[in-house]
Amino acid sequence: MKIKDILQQNQVTLSFEVFPPKKEEGLLATLEAAHKIAALHPDFVSVTYGAAGTAPRFTVEVASDLQSSHHIENIMALRGDIPQDGSQQKEFLHASDLIRYIRSTEYGQAISIGGACYPEKHPESSSKEEDLQHLKDKIDAGCDFLTTQMFFSNETFYNFLYRVRDRGINVPILAGIMPITSRKQLGRSVQLSGTNVPDSLKAIVDRFGDDPAALKQAGIIYASNQIIDLIANGVTHIHVYSMNKPDVAEGILRNISEILR
Ligand code: FAD
Repeated sequence: MKIKDILQQNQVTLSFEVFPPKKEEGLLATLEAAHKIAALHPDFVSVTYGAAGTAPRFTVEVASDLQSSHHIENIMALRGDIPQDGSQQKEFLHASDLIRYIRSTEYGQAISIGGACYPEKHPESSSKEEDLQHLKDKIDAGCDFLTTQMFFSNETFYNFLYRVRDRGINVPILAGIMPITSRKQLGRSVQLSGTNVPDSLKAIVDRFGDDPAALKQAGIIYASNQIIDLIANGVTHIHVYSMNKPDVAEGILRNISEILR
């Protein structure tokens, strides 16, 4: 089913993200985790493609194993991070170029296309206003829906949503929630993303960082509280960066089961 059609239904949606392994040895464990996450019956599961400019591997294996066929109906169209060696492909400088290209192909009209957006602006943008202009271009190119970069303060998201809607961007926006369940998660990827970490979350990681079970519990509760607040304020689409952890996905679902019903 096309994600854009799922998002049209007037109800709260919850989706999860998994990522492929870096090495072939990790494929079986990843598939097992992905299947456990899919068995929780989210509205959909997305599979990342490389990250931080690394070479992508196994995305198709994980996605097609979950979907049991190679019929592609949804594409997350991203420029991707610029590789650390500075090399950059020349053809699709921005995600909007890729989206325009996909739309111009034979199958382009039949596919649901998602794109990324950044409540705290993309780290390469000089201002939020500039980032928003480029976001509008992405939508004009044919992007059906947007998923946000992780954020840990809902105020940041509400503020972003206001500016986006004011700009005339009306596509569904999925709020990206990353449960922080280990100290190392607050390391490189959060730093690179430019996401602000509120003092309340820093305190949790400082206090429970050396107690994995306690930090996992606290991280699940923090993310659940974010989601409850979002839904209470009328946000209908939540995308959880579940980091291949079925127990984390399940913990969140348990905390909000009546709310989702
Ligand atoms: P773009 O939309 O092209 O934006 C990149 C920068 O270029 C921004 O600063 C933007 O303002 C600017 N820009 C855009 N258009 C123009 C223009 N016409 N002129 C000048 N500047 C312009 N990475 C992966 O490697 N694999 C993944 O699976 C993956 N999944 C992600 C999922 C989500 C929900 C998010 C939020 C990010 C994901 N990323 C992933 C990270 C993403 O690839 C990086 O953030 C990347 O740096 C930007 O990709 P983009 O598609 O947002 O780029």
